Amino acid sequence: MNRIYNFSSGPAVLPLTVLEQAQRELVDFEGSGMSLMEMSHRGKIFDAIIKAAETNFRTLMGISDDYAVLFLPGGASQQFAMIPLNLLLPGTSADYINTGSWATKAIKEAKIVGDVNVIWDGKADNYMSTPDLAGLRFTANAAYVHLCSNETIGGIRFPEFPKTDAPLIADMSSDIMSRVIDVNQFAMIYAGAQKNLGPSGMAVVVLRKDLAERCPDTVNYFFRYKTHMPEPSLYNTPNTWAVYIFKLITDWAIEQGGVAAIQKWNEEKAAAVYRVLDASPFWKPCANPANRSIMNITWRLETEELEKKFVAEAAAAGLDGLKGHRSVGGIRASIYNAFPMEGITALTAFMEDFAKKNG
Ligand code: PMP
Repeated sequence: MNRIYNFSSGPAVLPLTVLEQAQRELVDFEGSGMSLMEMSHRGKIFDAIIKAAETNFRTLMGISDDYAVLFLPGGASQQFAMIPLNLLLPGTSADYINTGSWATKAIKEAKIVGDVNVIWDGKADNYMSTPDLAGLRFTANAAYVHLCSNETIGGIRFPEFPKTDAPLIADMSSDIMSRVIDVNQFAMIYAGAQKNLGPSGMAVVVLRKDLAERCPDTVNYFFRYKTHMPEPSLYNTPNTWAVYIFKLITDWAIEQGGVAAIQKWNEEKAAAVYRVLDASPFWKPCANPANRSIMNITWRLETEELEKKFVAEAAAAGLDGLKGHRSVGGIRASIYNAFPMEGITALTAFMEDFAKKNG
């Protein structure tokens, strides 16, 4: 077996022990004579898996019974649309904070549904920072306030979150379960699963139950949160495979000591890379230091040719997926929860060597 160091932004590296368990269980799940993928989503076996997945996640994140936990299709992008459909009611407006590519996509979907106030936009500094929280001015009676906690492409994150009167909603696709957060500060949290939570094509949604009641009857049943709540996530056939892998990943996260332990480890991994980036002007880290993501680290080199050379030579050395997003270029190392410390050591050693030869 030849596992490389995978710096992909998502789908992304998963814990090896999870992949190995899934491999062992693929063909004959726990002596049932069939694969989990071949089983009814209403059968006993899957019922136990989806319940354990939810319980694990509630434990890891500290989610109370005031919130529903849903596994929905369509990834985070479908949530960009479902949020305004359910909550941006006629005669109201929603506040959005624009920190980059993903917040922009959320705003675009919301504008189709209703009035949107972009109360802060990071365009002036090329989306390399998040707002000073004290300076934010929210709209009175906003239906909700939306932000993206970690911009996967830019490589920036909110170090802390604003206190709002209106329900606060966060797209946590690229930093969910990577750091301890107080769920009660939010009315809703959602994430595409394919970074810290498993395979692509599924969104994990944490929603304060009372908010689901607000949805107008003009919205199609499928796109109403409340449709998916009575029998959680079983209104239609869920992605049973993604729920299963999510369950294994939450088992793994608990074994690691929970989110606080994972956060500590993530901070050490990110600090090791930023230390190299800060040590020489050869490297040009992108994010404003106070907003540096610990999941997606972005930097530039003097020229695009040098960046291409870096990415190609890194790939040849078994460090894959370091090319920046096609919309912004540069270099990006995505180092999610499952990314191993040995991969960080390999990257930093490669970087130091590359700087010596090309500086
Ligand atoms: N939000 C963020 C922060 C993301 O990183 C992504 C995907 N990279 C999305 C939303 C969209 O997720 P999906 O592709 O699952 O719809």
